[in-house]
Amino acid sequence: MVAPSSPVPNLAPQESAYTTALTQYDRAAQILGLSSGMYETLRKPRRELTVNFPVKMDNGEVRVFTGYRVHHNTARGPSKGGIRYAPTVDLDEVRALAMWMTWKCAIADLPFGGAKGGVVVDPKQLSLAELERLTRRYTTEITPLISPEGDIPAPDVGTNPQVMAWIMDTYSMHRGYSVPAIVTGKPINIGGSAGRFEATGRGVMFVVREAYRTFGWNFDNLSVVVQGFGNVGSIVAQTAYEMGCRVIAVSDIKGGIYNPNGIDIPRLRLFLREEHTLADFARISGVDVITNSELLELPCDILIPAAMENQITAANASRVRARVVAEGANGPTTPEADDILIERNVLVIPDILCNAGGVVVSYFEWVQSLQQLFWEESDVMQRLERVMVRSFRNVYSEALRMDIDLRTSALVLGIRRVVEATRVRGLYP
Ligand code: GLU
Repeated sequence: MVAPSSPVPNLAPQESAYTTALTQYDRAAQILGLSSGMYETLRKPRRELTVNFPVKMDNGEVRVFTGYRVHHNTARGPSKGGIRYAPTVDLDEVRALAMWMTWKCAIADLPFGGAKGGVVVDPKQLSLAELERLTRRYTTEITPLISPEGDIPAPDVGTNPQVMAWIMDTYSMHRGYSVPAIVTGKPINIGGSAGRFEATGRGVMFVVREAYRTFGWNFDNLSVVVQGFGNVGSIVAQTAYEMGCRVIAVSDIKGGIYNPNGIDIPRLRLFLREEHTLADFARISGVDVITNSELLELPCDILIPAAMENQITAANASRVRARVVAEGANGPTTPEADDILIERNVLVIPDILCNAGGVVVSYFEWVQSLQQLFWEESDVMQRLERVMVRSFRNVYSEALRMDIDLRTSALVLGIRRVVEATRVRGLYP
């Protein structure tokens, strides 16, 4: 039996990230003509752990939190992937994110499989001390699954270098000595890599620039819209600004700001450091306030969703007015929206290619941590650019060869590499 050849089923209106990930996988698996054994093997996560754990809150009460760690695949190496703290986390979301990590690492040709973790919590509602206790207990609970040789966590939505430092310290306390290679994305003074914090955002723009070069399109004074102003979005906006683009709109979870002449991104970033909000910035600088859904529909050259999943859906894809959608977030576009964008000739640079810069520099960090030998930031950035450009070219030539869109070709390339590793390793026992 081979992978199902029936048309891809229509998604229910309430699409989950996992439905998106599985639909994307099914489309690519069908093109690859996987055997049913291989198809089933790669479609399911290898292992999943759910943990429920108590945390003492500052007021003395004990609250029980739920967390997950999922290993999707380890055929190409130890599993790699971030940890997300968000109230919306559930097992299916973590499964989807873990699967995307497998393909992402394979496309960038990193010697890693895919994993993801998450805790159902709104980190903004916790004090720093509560967040530290939650992180230390969650780390302890998932210790059976993580190790520097087996599974290496990193930051994702709602976590940051400080959280990675607590994970590293907790794991090290259990071992009795420092184990810096247990996480990536840690602060530089405990073995983090120069350039890791900026890596995802920079990587997005390296890929976008390479796409423009490849198509012979002019890269001057392009208008850029960025959804999300966290670890990824703020650096994307900064890098686009430095590359000479006009960043005309940015947003965070509460909404966005818009100025068709371009926003002074360095000034905005400085302003936000002082505990101000985007709305405060709009007030002092006279730019317009817009909603997140209005932002996605602004006329622009490049739209960069850099927040959460399921942002461009069948409901709004026909109103996207960008020439290029470059996915900084994981899973921002549903399969139905993909079809609409392809039909309308919007170039989508898919997440598993476009936002791989984070995990690429995570790989560099892991290598440095294992060797206790550190690289200059300029070295890190040059190597990052080389990997991102190479990945884009590989995905693009596959797309040309097979006459498919970039998402499908990225999936085909990534899945094929995992299939090859699985075949050559053979089936145990
Ligand atoms: N959370 C990031 C991602 O989704 C980075 C993962 C990593 O560095 O391991 O790609």
